[in-house]
Amino acid sequence: MQQSEIRCCFHPPPAPPSGAGCLMEKNYRVCALASGSRGNAVYVSDGNTNILIDAGLSGAEMQRRLISRNLSAENLDAIVVSHEHSDHIHGVGVLSRRYSLPVYMSRKTEAAGAGKMGKLSDVRYFECGKKFSVGSLDFRPFSTSHDAGDPAGFCIGEKKIGIATDLGIPTQVVREHLRGCALVMLEANHDPEMLMKGPYPWYLKQRVRSRTGHLSNMQSSALLREILHPELRHIILGHLSEKNNHPEKALAAGKEAINGHRIHLDLALQDVCGEVIRI
Ligand SMILES: [Zn+2]
Ligand SMILES: [Zn+2]
Repeated sequence: MQQSEIRCCFHPPPAPPSGAGCLMEKNYRVCALASGSRGNAVYVSDGNTNILIDAGLSGAEMQRRLISRNLSAENLDAIVVSHEHSDHIHGVGVLSRRYSLPVYMSRKTEAAGAGKMGKLSDVRYFECGKKFSVGSLDFRPFSTSHDAGDPAGFCIGEKKIGIATDLGIPTQVVREHLRGCALVMLEANHDPEMLMKGPYPWYLKQRVRSRTGHLSNMQSSALLREILHPELRHIILGHLSEKNNHPEKALAAGKEAINGHRIHLDLALQDVCGEVIRI
């Protein structure tokens, strides 16, 4: 099955208008440009401030994918870095220098990623647990359980876009931050059986399934069930392992979590740029 055929598998009818207050709300756009162990980047905009969460592809590929969705690197305002693993920072240096973009990250992430991003002329620091703003976008960064210097997930904006794609276990902090979101992008990294029977060396299998590795489909599904609420409109499952998962397995886990609720379920894939989701 082609990857493009299985995207957006579950799109129920649109919800009725929610009444007064809609016109006052901001409209956000979210686009998963790439997701997986070969590169991650998510575009988020409120129409005023446009940012990337991570830039793990080459600068040229990031530009190509932005253009493919009628977005523009020239209009970016900043890059926000979740952690220093190369699948999240590979293109950070190039993009930030080419477009004079400030890079937001924690001091520990900067230290852990020293030398991997080249010279950055404008680094701005955030701390997990403390709000910060990039232009008109408000961020609430939160710690995740992952084997990096200071890994972060993010809640963004007043409609709450929640992004957490590298986490070994769903901690209480993660649960609390993802509750109440209108859109959640969550990792569904591996199928445990595929991982154990797959080609990874033993130490890597242990790393992936550890408390500081990545969420399995089942863990992801269980967490989603815990955070379901009436205003949750979109779920994007991401960071799927190409060797230890199958998109259909991740989708099945997501559907099980949704269980008939009126929620759009998408996959964020490695080689296919996602659609622009408006909320
Ligand atoms: Zn990653
Ligand atoms: Zn990582």
